[in-house]
Amino acid sequence: MPPAREDLLVLVTPGKDGLGDTAKGMVSVGRRAAARLGLAWAAAVLADGEDPELPEAALETLADHGVPGVLVIRAGRPLADFPEARAEALAGAARARAARLVLMAHDSAGASLAPRVAAALGGAVLTECVSVEPGGGGVRVSRRALGDRLAETFLWDRASPLVLTVHPGCLSPVPPAGPAGGRPVVEAVEAPVPDGAFRSRVVERIPPDPRTVDVSEAEVIFCAGKGFDRESFERFRELAGLLNASLGVSRPVYDLGWAGFERMIGQTGKTVAPRLYLGVGISGSMHHVGGIRDARRIVCLNLDPRAPMFAASDEGFVADLREVIPLLLDRVRARVAGGGAP
Ligand SMILES: Cc1cc2nc3c(=O)[nH]c(=O)nc-3n(C[C@H](O)[C@H](O)[C@H](O)COP(=O)(O)OP(=O)(O)OC[C@H]3O[C@@H](n4cnc5c(N)ncnc54)[C@H](O)[C@@H]3O)c2cc1C
Repeated sequence: MPPAREDLLVLVTPGKDGLGDTAKGMVSVGRRAAARLGLAWAAAVLADGEDPELPEAALETLADHGVPGVLVIRAGRPLADFPEARAEALAGAARARAARLVLMAHDSAGASLAPRVAAALGGAVLTECVSVEPGGGGVRVSRRALGDRLAETFLWDRASPLVLTVHPGCLSPVPPAGPAGGRPVVEAVEAPVPDGAFRSRVVERIPPDPRTVDVSEAEVIFCAGKGFDRESFERFRELAGLLNASLGVSRPVYDLGWAGFERMIGQTGKTVAPRLYLGVGISGSMHHVGGIRDARRIVCLNLDPRAPMFAASDEGFVADLREVIPLLLDRVRARVAGGGAP
């Protein structure tokens, strides 16, 4: 019997409790790409720990997202701390299943894994892709570049393997429309990895510092607008730090020199996709709002109930930041001083 094959593999990394939002977004992207391109597809999981079984919660979510099959890739050794070995194992599984297209999220892991997998497969790599469509006699792949300032479109002729990382702004955890499908078929794929691929090892992982993390990758952003005076702004900065939020600013605040250009959000600044964006003292101009469209939840606070920011928000508060920010900061400081979680 010939080995089973999938044209498209979508790398997902389940957590202990199931599938996170990035993994959910990836299988939705995979399902849509497979449907548009007429490809057989499966989710691929690198079996990292001692226990290569998938959590039940992950299987249920994969079923909800219409994933037809899951390949659990086994290299005979834990892979989590060995980037080269992970790439070899994924490439080995892609070869074993004759997959031509491999998708992964453009997070820090995917961005470093994708070129290695492409090299191991003798294929091409395209990063931060936003769409994959049939066209031009092959497949048209669009990506963003230079911090979202440039859009590029490539044509893939399907002749050699292609590895894509998917732009975080395209990843929605909501299952795509259409029937959920049954429980996915789970199969183990043995992908032996040569010893040489275990030579470099991650020995320490330091969680990102919200004060320094790139706002385009931040999970929670507190963004300050021109409604701030300097004193309130410094309080807001402290509040963001205590609550592990990243500080963003609108253009006038950047122009005042209170924060660097890398903190500015909007059309000429950074495009962001956090779980939560809190905009305080921001009017909601199109130049600013254009940079926060991919935020999962937008909350704002403004003195003026007619500010356009309310229309762009999921939730809004009409209040004076000069009253609210000091109160919030005092409460959070007290919680932290008392040893509690902020
Ligand atoms: C080509 C171009 C590109 C641009 N690119 C960007 C960009 O990338 N990013 C960007 O941000 N802007 C950009 N701008 C500027 C943009 O058009 C707006 O001028 C800017 O976003 C406004 O910033 P703001 O909302 O902080 O200030 P304002 O529009 O001045 O709004 C301040 C808000 O604070 C509120 N407020 C005042 N006092 C208080 C208080 N005590 N409590 C609560 N609320 C209060 C006010 O009601 C008001 O709504 C660009 C402009 C151009 C022409």
